[in-house]
Amino acid sequence: AGNYETHEHDVIIIGAGGAGLRAAIEASSMGLSVGLVCKSLLGKAHTVMAEGGVAAALGNVEPKDNWKVHFRDTMKGGRYLNQWRMAQLHAMEAPDRVNELEEWGALFDRTPDGRILQRNFGGHKYPRLAHVGDRTGLEMIRTLQQHGIHTGMKVYMECTVTRLLKAGDAVSGAFGYWRESGRFVVFRAKAIVLATGGIGRAFKINSNSWECTGDGQALAYLAGAELMDMEFMQFHPTGMVWPPSVRGTLITEGVRGEGGTLRNKDQKRIMFDYIHPLYANETAPTEEEADRWLALSTSGQMDKNVRRTPDLLPRDIVARAIHAEVKAGRGSPHGGVFLDIATRRTAADIKRKLPAMYHQFKELGDVDITKEPMEVGPTAHYTMGGIRVDPETQQSRVKGLFAAGECAAGMHGANRLGGNSLSDLLVFGRIAGLHAGRYAKEQTNLPSLDAGEIQDASQEALAPFNRHEGPNPFQLHEELKDTMQTHVGIIRTEEDLSEGLRQLENLKERSRTIRIDGNRHYNSGWHETIDMRNLLIVSEAMARAALLRKESRGAHARDDFPETDKEHFAKVNIVSRLHGSTMEVAEIDLPPVPAEIKKVLEEE
Ligand code: FAD
Repeated sequence: AGNYETHEHDVIIIGAGGAGLRAAIEASSMGLSVGLVCKSLLGKAHTVMAEGGVAAALGNVEPKDNWKVHFRDTMKGGRYLNQWRMAQLHAMEAPDRVNELEEWGALFDRTPDGRILQRNFGGHKYPRLAHVGDRTGLEMIRTLQQHGIHTGMKVYMECTVTRLLKAGDAVSGAFGYWRESGRFVVFRAKAIVLATGGIGRAFKINSNSWECTGDGQALAYLAGAELMDMEFMQFHPTGMVWPPSVRGTLITEGVRGEGGTLRNKDQKRIMFDYIHPLYANETAPTEEEADRWLALSTSGQMDKNVRRTPDLLPRDIVARAIHAEVKAGRGSPHGGVFLDIATRRTAADIKRKLPAMYHQFKELGDVDITKEPMEVGPTAHYTMGGIRVDPETQQSRVKGLFAAGECAAGMHGANRLGGNSLSDLLVFGRIAGLHAGRYAKEQTNLPSLDAGEIQDASQEALAPFNRHEGPNPFQLHEELKDTMQTHVGIIRTEEDLSEGLRQLENLKERSRTIRIDGNRHYNSGWHETIDMRNLLIVSEAMARAALLRKESRGAHARDDFPETDKEHFAKVNIVSRLHGSTMEVAEIDLPPVPAEIKKVLEEE
C-alpha cells in the first residue's frame, strides 16, 4: 500500500460535531486512549451552524413539562416510526445533558429568575428549547471542546476517512488521508464511533455545510452495517430563496418561535389552511387564538383552552404548505412565501433574540428584517435515516462499530422535531462513547490489521489519478444534486423515483471513470471524487427506500399514495444493506411497544 503512518487507540471517533465530541469525552473519561478524527478543523463541524436551540424538558418556562410530554411529542412528530426506546432515552436524559453543558460553562439565555430560558418550536407542546440567541450550536461546540480538551483525547484534523477496516466480523480500524498532503493514514482501534453528520449535499437546495456528504453512512454500509429510514429527508420550510447564491441557507424556526408568521403574496397567513388532522385538536383555527397562545406561552401563563399557532406545526407539514402555496401561484416574487417578524416584534427584540438572522439578511440579501418580511422556501436540511443501531448501546450490526448523531437512525422516525438533534447528539453521543469504551475494555489486544484490505483502500483512493480520460467530479456532483432535487425531492411519485434511480445508475457508472489531474497535495477534485462515492450510496438508498414505501408519512410524501397507511407501512422500517455488490432494500418490523409505554403515549 505504499507509505502510510499508523496510529493506535482504544477508541477512534470519526467526526467532531456535537455527537463526536460528546462520545470522545465519555470514552476518554473512562481512562481509555481516544483519537478524534475530523475532515475539517476542530470547531468547524456542521454543529456550529445550529441556531434555534436544544430541546430538553427542563420545565423552566412551563413547569408542566416533563420527559413523558417530550417523548409523546417526539413520537407523534416522527409519526410513530421512531424506535420508541431511543425516543424514551432521549426525552429522559436530555435535561441532564443540558444541565451538564451548563456546568461545563455554556452560557444559555436566562429567565428573569436566572434559570435556563426555553423557547417555543414546532411540534413541542411547551416552550422547551434551551438556547443562546440564535447561535446555540456555536456555544455547544465551544463548551464541548473546552471541556473535552482536558480529558486527554488526541485530535486528528483535516483528515478524511475513506474506508473502515475489519478483522473478521468486527472493526479493526480506519483508513484515510490527510487533506493537505494527500498522504495516507491508518488508525488501528478496538472500537469505532461514527459521528459524521448528514447528507444534505446530495440536494441542489440545502442548508448543510460542505462536510455533509454521507460519509459515515457509506463507510458503515460498505463495512456491512445496515442503513435505516433513508426515505425520510427533512425539508426545512424556511430556507432563503433569494439571492440565488445563498439559496437554501437556513432561517431558524426560532423566528416563528418568537412570533413570526408565514404569509402568501396576498398577505394572508397561510398555515390556517394546512392544519393536519393529527394536530387539529391542539392547533388554533383563528389568528386571534394563535396570537393569544403566543403571548401566553412566552410569558409562562399557559391556558389549556388556548391552542398553539399553526405556524409552529411540524416541519413536514409547513414545508408542504409552502410548496402548495407556490404551486397555486400565491408565492413571493422569487418562488417562496413571506416570513414576517417585522410587524410582530420590536426592532430591538428582533436584534436581541435573532441577531444572526438579522445580520444574515442584511449582509446576504440586503433585507432589513426589522422592517421587511423575508422570502423563504423549503431546503433539504436533515436526514432522519442513517446507520441502524441498537437503541441501548448505539452499536451497529458490525461488532465494535457504533454510530451517533445525525448519521445514525432511529430516534426521529419519519420526521424530526426542531431542537431534537442537538439533544440527540448529547444523549446518544454519550451513550455511544460509553458503550464503545466498554466494548474496547473487553478486548484484550488491539485487533490485527489486514494488509490486503489497506492495499485495496489505497488503490481505490488512487484509481482516479491513473485514468486517461473521464468526467469531471464537480460536474457529476451538480448532476447528482439536480437528480435528487427533481426526482427524490419534497413530493415523490413512482415514475419520478424510477427515473431518479435510472439517473443515479448512470452517474454511478460514470463516476467509476472520473479522472483527476495534478498530484495528491490539497487536490479538491480528488476530495470531491471520494465524496461522490458516498453521496451516490446514500442517494441510492434514499431513492430505493422511497420507492418501496407506498404511502405518505412525515417527511416522505408520495403523490401517488397520498394517504398514511395504518396497516402495513405503520409497522415497518425500511433498511438497505450491501448484498454482494448490489444494494438490497428490505422491510423490518418495528420493535413492539411495551404496555407501560403505550400508556404514556395515550395520556394527554
Ligand atoms: P456534524 O456536526 O455534522 O459533524 C460531523 C463531523 O464529522 C465533522 O467534524 C466532520 O468533519 C466529520 N466528518 C464527516 N465525514 C468525515 C470523514 N469521512 N472523515 C473524517 N471526518 C468526517 N438542530 C437542533 O437540534 N437545533 C437547532 O437549532 C439546529 N439548527 C440548525 C441550523 C442549521 C443551519 C443546520 C444546517 C442544522 C441545524 N440543526 C439543528 C441540525 C443539527 O445542527 C445537526 O443535525 C447536527 O449538528 C449534526 O451533528 P453531528 O455531530 O451528528 O455531525
